[in-house]
Amino acid sequence: MQTINAALGASLAWVVVRQGGKPEMVSVGVPGCTLQDTQTLLEQSQLRRHQRAWRVICWRRHVGTLLFPDQEITANKLQSGILCKLNYKEPGLEGYFFLGFTQPLQSLSVIKNVVVILVEKLKDYLAEIIAKERAAKEMQRIVSQYKALFDRAPVLMNSFDKTNRCILWNGECERLFGWSLDELNQQADPLALFFPDPEVRQKVRASVNTSPAVDMHEWHPIRRDGQTLTVLWSNILLPDHSILSIGLDITERKKVEQQLEMKATIDDLTGCYNRFSMLRKLKEALKACHPNDPRSHFSLLMLDLDHFKSINDRWGHLTGDAALIHFCEQIREHSDPSWIFGRLGGEEFLILMPQINGKAALRFSQKIRAALAQTPLLSGAEKIVLSFSAGLVFVTDEQADTSVLLTLADNALYDAKRAGRSKTVVAGAFL
Ligand code: GH3
Ligand code: MG
Ligand code: MG
Repeated sequence: MQTINAALGASLAWVVVRQGGKPEMVSVGVPGCTLQDTQTLLEQSQLRRHQRAWRVICWRRHVGTLLFPDQEITANKLQSGILCKLNYKEPGLEGYFFLGFTQPLQSLSVIKNVVVILVEKLKDYLAEIIAKERAAKEMQRIVSQYKALFDRAPVLMNSFDKTNRCILWNGECERLFGWSLDELNQQADPLALFFPDPEVRQKVRASVNTSPAVDMHEWHPIRRDGQTLTVLWSNILLPDHSILSIGLDITERKKVEQQLEMKATIDDLTGCYNRFSMLRKLKEALKACHPNDPRSHFSLLMLDLDHFKSINDRWGHLTGDAALIHFCEQIREHSDPSWIFGRLGGEEFLILMPQINGKAALRFSQKIRAALAQTPLLSGAEKIVLSFSAGLVFVTDEQADTSVLLTLADNALYDAKRAGRSKTVVAGAFL
């Protein structure tokens, strides 16, 4: 615009562009002209009368009074003026170019034609700038959206550079782990905050992939308050050797899963396996059993408390429950951890003893009997000695199915009851 002023001998040039009603202005020359001054000219009655119909308007004299109606001295500095529209087709976008001269000009009509041509160029040039500005604004909007998403997303996102400094630590990371980015970077090895064991740290580092991993790895980092979390992480090594990690906190989900698993497999009252899982374990043991492989042989002991109903009747149901718990505690105390112990229902239990022959299993049942006699259940001042009958089967072959095996144990147990209770009857080798 400076060049235009110089070439055409103009004193003032300005351009105003309105986008969505919001005007912006660039002005070059004297007298100094504000956006407000330009709006005064654009809104004056002569232009409004013409409405949209004009393209270019010239004033031979006193154009200054239209721009600066309240400033006589400034107004007198401008005489001739040319106002030309920038003909944008786009709705909501309009532009105006103004050229002002200090003298009344005779050659205005010639200059007017030059201005019309110049304005066409100016229009294209400004359109390009407007498009670029719009793209930049859009980009800024997208970046700020991503920033917000990155910070508020319920997903863990972080990045460490090749010198092991944390360069990215989103809101979810800070919320879950309790450390801020600054606090992490005060550590010699920030990873040690989450994985104190150097071996685990080594494994975490080794898990980093150069391509996005399909599977997420499960890790158990420690948070600031010492709680161990379960987090699924996917790590990727970026070209600049920084590591980007995306993770999901599944601690609560894991807990619920474990609780459900517990509920599905463990007997509520006694804490031993329930009937369903006990029978499944028995099935597995039976399937793996082979006559030529002594390590696959096992003993199966079916136990039933004697006269249990009378405990309920005499001391009440709660004491009956306590008796069941006490019985299980005694068994657990004297069993090998590799044995599988479950409640079939009521006061009937099953113990699966891998690699234990009939003789050893019989000895075990006698040991339990002695333990129950020595450690009675206490109900207030009273001592309740529990006794049980049992049927024992030594299993050395895979051929039988669980129901045959259970019937065998049950029959032996029934024999023990008939023979006067508090006994273990061996069903003989199960071949
Ligand atoms: P036997 O020596 O012939 O086995 O006699 P018993 O009284 O032990 O056997 P019976 O089958 O007559 O009674 C078993 C009782 O166990 C009946 C039932 O109310 C009780 N029972 C079953 N489950 C529970 C439980 O979870 N808690 C309590 N307190 N009692 C239970
Ligand atoms: Mg009973
Ligand atoms: Mg019973």
